[in-house]
Amino acid sequence: MNLFAVSPEYIRAIQPYQPGKPISELVRDLGLNKDEVIKLASNENPLGTSPLAREAIIQAVSESSRYPDGSGFELKAALSERLGVSADQIVLGNGSNDVLELASRIFLRTGTSAVYSQYAFAIYPLLVQAVGAKGIAVPAKNYGHDLEAMLDAITTDTRVIFIANPNNPTGTLCDARDLLRFIECVPPDTLVILDQAYDEYLSKADKANSIAWLKNFQNLVITHTFSKAYGLASVRVGFALAHADIANLMNRIRQPFNVNSIGLAAAQAALNDVEFVKLSYMSNRTGMQQMVAGLDQLGVGYIPSHGNFISIQIEGQQADTLDVYKSLLHQGVIVRPLGNYGLPNHLRVTIGIEEENKKFLYALEQALKEPESH
Ligand SMILES: *Cc1c(COP(=O)(O)O)cnc(C)c1O
Repeated sequence: MNLFAVSPEYIRAIQPYQPGKPISELVRDLGLNKDEVIKLASNENPLGTSPLAREAIIQAVSESSRYPDGSGFELKAALSERLGVSADQIVLGNGSNDVLELASRIFLRTGTSAVYSQYAFAIYPLLVQAVGAKGIAVPAKNYGHDLEAMLDAITTDTRVIFIANPNNPTGTLCDARDLLRFIECVPPDTLVILDQAYDEYLSKADKANSIAWLKNFQNLVITHTFSKAYGLASVRVGFALAHADIANLMNRIRQPFNVNSIGLAAAQAALNDVEFVKLSYMSNRTGMQQMVAGLDQLGVGYIPSHGNFISIQIEGQQADTLDVYKSLLHQGVIVRPLGNYGLPNHLRVTIGIEEENKKFLYALEQALKEPESH
């Protein structure tokens, strides 16, 4: 018997997630020097890790032989105090991908459906497919969420709606009032998962006070991550905020030690490093201005972004875009092609520090000059 062949068809249909190319891979493939390669492909923090978190990681290493605190008591207490929610409304995860999965696994199975936007974060369709549910991708409006069309797309079997705000890879942002009105219109037996991975990069005026909404909506789950502005992508910590009953369900199905002790310590320290998050925000703002000015000068189109990345549009066919991508690689610059997002002419570029942005803009100029060299 061929075991592969009898696996669920919906599992075999999954196209695995394509991560950004690691620096080590480019070094191996093209024989480049590690120090001349810059990675602007995974929306990582170009300032690195918060110094306080780094110190906490070193301290935590000495306890590596012990199991972590499976309840994450201290990190939850710190988050509870910072965010004004009770600890039983918090679910910790191995990255926010973990909590996204926990929330969706409770409610999705064969015979149910989930709604998300065209061009939304690629993990959503994967989570839906992994449990045999049906994904409903709603056509985007100006590359962003068309909230009215998403409401219309909800059917009686829709159990989950995903919204990334800002969205990755488009950087689009839903207005907070529109978002609140949307949640008010969603049936109470459908869960709204609001993914705020890039919330720290928003100006005060753009931020939604979504935590206040939790009081009124049992069907709201908000997710956050330590991977971006806190600079901890590698240690994998994220969290969800929800009604205590929903958090309770999520905690039942998570792995008992889903966040490791190094991650717990690092996240708690990073949370206290307010200065580092502020620096990350400022660095991203000036970097975004530099990037946009450079792109304007080159006459390259882009989707205006509220995140720590920007998706640029290359004129011509998908092959031309891939040529630009390859030329950038040869020049030691890793960005992210968006063909698997249905954006074959776009490349997503993470905002780096000044020298990185400069290097990228120069490399892009060269790439656009080169006639078909591949
Ligand atoms: C980067 C990102 C995340 C964070 O994922 P982690 O698992 O926390 O590293 C979540 N949602 C979106 C939309 C992202 O782009």
